[in-house]
Amino acid sequence: ERERERDQEMANLGLMITLITVLICLSSSFTKSSKGIKIDLPKSLNLTLLTNPSTISAASQDFGNITTVTPSGVICPSSSSDISRLLHYAANEKTTFQVAARGQGHSLNGQASVSGGVVVNMTCLADDVVVSKDKKYADVAAGTLWVDVLKKTAEEGVSPVSWTDYLHISVGGTLSNGGIGGQVFRNGPLISNVLELDVITGKGEMLTCSPKLNSELFYGVLGGLGQFGIITRARIVLDHAPKRAKWFRMLYSDFTAFTKDQERLISMANDIGVDYLEGQIFMSNGVVDTSFFPPSDQSKVTDLVKKHGIIYVLETAKYYDDPNLPIIREVVDKLKQSLSYLPGFISMHDVSYFDFLNRVQVEENKLRSLGLWEVPHPWLNLYVPKSRILDFHNGVVKDILLKQKTASGLALLYPTNRNKWDNRMSAMIPEIDEDVIYVIGLLQSATPQTLPEMESVNAKIIRFCKDSGIKIKQYLMRYTRKEDWIEHFGSKWNDFSKRKELFDPKKLLSPGQDIF
Ligand code: FAD
Repeated sequence: ERERERDQEMANLGLMITLITVLICLSSSFTKSSKGIKIDLPKSLNLTLLTNPSTISAASQDFGNITTVTPSGVICPSSSSDISRLLHYAANEKTTFQVAARGQGHSLNGQASVSGGVVVNMTCLADDVVVSKDKKYADVAAGTLWVDVLKKTAEEGVSPVSWTDYLHISVGGTLSNGGIGGQVFRNGPLISNVLELDVITGKGEMLTCSPKLNSELFYGVLGGLGQFGIITRARIVLDHAPKRAKWFRMLYSDFTAFTKDQERLISMANDIGVDYLEGQIFMSNGVVDTSFFPPSDQSKVTDLVKKHGIIYVLETAKYYDDPNLPIIREVVDKLKQSLSYLPGFISMHDVSYFDFLNRVQVEENKLRSLGLWEVPHPWLNLYVPKSRILDFHNGVVKDILLKQKTASGLALLYPTNRNKWDNRMSAMIPEIDEDVIYVIGLLQSATPQTLPEMESVNAKIIRFCKDSGIKIKQYLMRYTRKEDWIEHFGSKWNDFSKRKELFDPKKLLSPGQDIF
């Protein structure tokens, strides 16, 4: 009898444990999904909140493939007034949802998403590119890809003057970050080539801004990480679109010779100077892409990397229209004769201006076909002051990166001119009194298995720079601690937070950046 009672007690206990487990599971799945059912936009707003699983799933991921941040819904605006009504409602009602504009979602850590809030799909406001009569600027809808800006302006013989390496990113997303590449040394980052913006603030106001009109908003939004408003139109500076580019890569085994030549090229005047300058690092523990060199030289390049461990690739381009102009031959000869690359290790491609600017898409297609595009991207982008670039090279490239078991992806390293940044804008570069800063892009691809190791390598690099007193600034990162953001914005933090109070007091916008 007692045994039966004990069995009964055990069975009851088992039942209770099962019940408690089910309850815990139910309540946690409720907490997660409750975010998805909270937002109920009134009919008067005339906005459709898309909540189907595939839309939500797409808006929860980004290029980084590291974080998943799930919004409650997505709107596809048909005009800027749709965005204005949404933000006006969110700012004035007792609602608590936040809002994130999303271009292509090419962010690395969820910066274009919003947990439980509304994502505004900016690609719904795209492809509107109107070149002015005098061809000095184009008005562009913010969701437009730069590649489409290029196609449309080139039809009229004009082109923007500064570019990112990759053109399949949105105008609004890029201007919220900065926009850097090999033309910055001459023409400044993309944010330095904007004349006017239409912005919808966190209060839902639609404002036009420029250096003269609502200038606080204009400077705040450029490099402002989406914190002060949603850009719906940008007026972009244009100039003549060249027809072709002479595109060079030269190899160096000596870091100082490499950086000396890079620095010389960015200081040369416009006529004989080059139009584009970047640089890459090939390491013996990484992938060495020899495809730019003729097949007969490719194994020599691989051997060179094996022999030296590290090889530096100077990459430069000169644009032109007429190949018969003596200046083009002069520049090419000058490059070949005056730079101290390893004899014989130079390769030149003659390509259309469009193909030159759109070169990363070729890489994208290759990686996609190998299933290597949609993988985790623990990228680390930094600006390093010129005075410490050798220390950075020795401490990071030689002592950390070269000692990694394997490295995958690209390592970029090139100088650019600091005076091309406008300090009134939100974008940050090192706050030092130096003319030249280096752009570093450690663009690694990971697998879920290698991700932790790569992230710890990135942390080690940051720690090395801190411990050695190298005053770096990160680009495209997301900090999770407020003190890191305060340190990042340095002398601009007060203005940055004042602008937040002014334009988005309810802190609705781009919460994925984790600043406020
Ligand atoms: P998203 O990732 O969608 O958004 C970025 C941020 O801006 C988010 O906080 C978002 O909320 C906000 N935002 C988006 N649209 C708007 C808007 N209209 N108004 C206000 N806020 C908005 N960057 C460079 O500078 N140089 C490079 O050479 C370069 N190369 C790249 C190469 C590759 C392969 C990739 C994937 C990215 C590269 N980038 C480069 C980074 C790129 O600038 C960022 O990914 C940037 O975020 C733009 O991408 P996006 O349009 O998808 O913006």
